[in-house]
Amino acid sequence: MIPSDTLGWGTARNCIREVYEFGLRLKAEIGEDKVFDFSLGNPSVPAPPQVREAILKALDDPTLHDYTVAPGRPSLRQAIAENLNARYGTNLAPTDIYVTCGASAAVTCSIKGLLQPGEEAVAFAPHYPEYPVFTRTAGGKFVFCSLRREDLQMDIPALEAVLTEKTAVVLVNSPNNPSGAVLNEASLKALADCLYKAQKRFGHPIYIISDEPYRELVYDLDSVPSPIQFYDNTVVCYSYSKSLSLPGERIGYYAVSDRAERREEVFASLAGAARSYGYVNPPSLMQRVIEACVDLKPDISTYKENRDILCGILDEVKMPYIHPDGAFYLFIRSPEPEAKVFCEHARKYGLLLVPSNDFGITGYARAAYCVKGEMIRRSKDAFKALAQEYGMC
Ligand code: PLP
Repeated sequence: MIPSDTLGWGTARNCIREVYEFGLRLKAEIGEDKVFDFSLGNPSVPAPPQVREAILKALDDPTLHDYTVAPGRPSLRQAIAENLNARYGTNLAPTDIYVTCGASAAVTCSIKGLLQPGEEAVAFAPHYPEYPVFTRTAGGKFVFCSLRREDLQMDIPALEAVLTEKTAVVLVNSPNNPSGAVLNEASLKALADCLYKAQKRFGHPIYIISDEPYRELVYDLDSVPSPIQFYDNTVVCYSYSKSLSLPGERIGYYAVSDRAERREEVFASLAGAARSYGYVNPPSLMQRVIEACVDLKPDISTYKENRDILCGILDEVKMPYIHPDGAFYLFIRSPEPEAKVFCEHARKYGLLLVPSNDFGITGYARAAYCVKGEMIRRSKDAFKALAQEYGMC
């Protein structure tokens, strides 16, 4: 018998997909209206009409189906660089931008390009569950670091305790999947200060990979600060999956800071990683679409409304949670030490939540509220029954 490890990292199931697939079976069994599926981060808001217009226009281009240059069309990279420069006050050139098949490709290529086998990547828990998979695939060691439990902001002593001379990469994701927390400017400045000192101490660069697919999805803040504003050795990874509701179209990018040490070498190394993973070029149709839509501001009113409906229900049934500032996820505090048990109990009422264990933290359940508002409203009785079972209300 072949041990499952020898088949690669893909043999371990993604916890979110598992709950989602369970939900499909449950819907077939008991009826769709009795299942309240908060499992998947699939945007429920349609893509803006400009996307359709850009698709139709691109169909007339006789070179549409050709290969493009690997990092993406120069005109698109120019448009992305200008968008980022206006947003962050950077001085990025088109040659700092590499267009990818979404943020997943951007992050996995960045990790592989920046980390030598045996080196370490640090991520803050709760973290996106694919980071350990990406790190180990690149031959690295995945290390996680806690945030302050009370507000999910930077805990510098905890970070200092996990940095070693083998630390090559620090992964930052704000607004955060799974918690919806947004790292504030003070947190990012403290992080930058800590990493500048660590670079000096260890005598080599440490790169931040800032995974920012939710940066436009913030509800009470004017904008989201990015590590690229405070730390030179930063690579920004972005995706149009969430902001333009295009997750199936696979388009995003990475941008190497114009102030990064060995900027050109870093870019070349990340490009080599993309090549080694077989990313020949990002989807040609979508490159044209994004060029037309690069400055579009998403309408986030539906997600804000959903957040407020869900928070209202949880307040009413007295179920504690972390109030989310961004993304479309909310972290419910599990009354069980083992969140998996709490999520299993929730299933009795048709409520599908994802336990926090695979996000690197215990004691929470994630609810993705990028769903239909009427489903959230209808879920009230299920949340109430669950809260009553635990004596919360
Ligand atoms: N990073 C984070 C934090 C995410 O939440 C997601 C998707 O949910 C991704 C990356 C991957 O996004 P993409 O669809 O662009 O690959």
